[in-house]
Amino acid sequence: MTSTLVTAETVKALRKRVKRWRDESNTVALVPTMGALHEGHLSLVDRARRKADRVVVSIFVNTKQFAEGEDLATYPQDLEGDLAKLKSRQVDLVFIPGSEEMYRPGFATSVHIAGPAAVGLEDKFRPHFFNGVAIVVAKLLIQAQCDYAIFGEKDYQQLKTINHMARDLDIPTQIIGAEIIREDDGLAMSSRNWYLSEAERARAPMLHEEMQAAAVALRAGADMDDVLKASRQRLKRAGFSVDYIEVRHANTLANLTGGADEPARLLAAVWLGTTRLIDNIAV
Ligand code: AMP
Repeated sequence: MTSTLVTAETVKALRKRVKRWRDESNTVALVPTMGALHEGHLSLVDRARRKADRVVVSIFVNTKQFAEGEDLATYPQDLEGDLAKLKSRQVDLVFIPGSEEMYRPGFATSVHIAGPAAVGLEDKFRPHFFNGVAIVVAKLLIQAQCDYAIFGEKDYQQLKTINHMARDLDIPTQIIGAEIIREDDGLAMSSRNWYLSEAERARAPMLHEEMQAAAVALRAGADMDDVLKASRQRLKRAGFSVDYIEVRHANTLANLTGGADEPARLLAAVWLGTTRLIDNIAV
């Protein structure tokens, strides 16, 4: 049996569908994406499918989370390929708003998250980023009025920040985090991996290897500053330019206080040529 994939380009059409499902007592899960879908995204779709009766995937390259000089103009796009992948995963609806639908002329509202989860790490290097993410995710959650929204731990700080925002704004959608999907050699899947040259792609898994080694040393009780300094140096020698490699509280992303049993997360952002890679692992 072949089914056609249903798409919606307007908030009105999205709401109409979702309302019908809710009237039928179906639960609905949303998976927000910027497209150029890979198995990491599709794992979120599978998670949504296990959680809810209906699955909505949004594809929107959010202009507001890119600063001047970043990769908005070259961000990979493959709508046809994306739709084929989503069809094969039996998605119920794909929401594909244009820029004008998302940010109508005269759009003038912002959402600024000031809590500790949003401050430091990514924010230091991409100060515009979380404001852009916050406004688009707030809009998507309000537009879709879904029971669940699934986000990847790949963007760990983003996940924590969105959780905080949804709680602060009383958005009645449960935010669910899903584990990172990796290539066989350990590289975290990312749409931006498309940018890597063959030589860079061969070198890229060293980031995850280095992070694993650091996590092992930290678990064994090695001094945190020493471990991070050594990791930074090894990454630099291997040709990476390091924005940060830091250990934070796994739930709050605050600096660790040194107390026993504090859950910790190692997070890193590095450049390989002109490609920025981010990754994180539990310590
Ligand atoms: P993006 O299209 O990059 O904005 O990502 C859309 C969603 O997919 C976000 O919640 C990401 O965290 C998630 N995601 C991206 N890559 C991965 C991955 N390798 N594993 C799990 N989730 C991912």
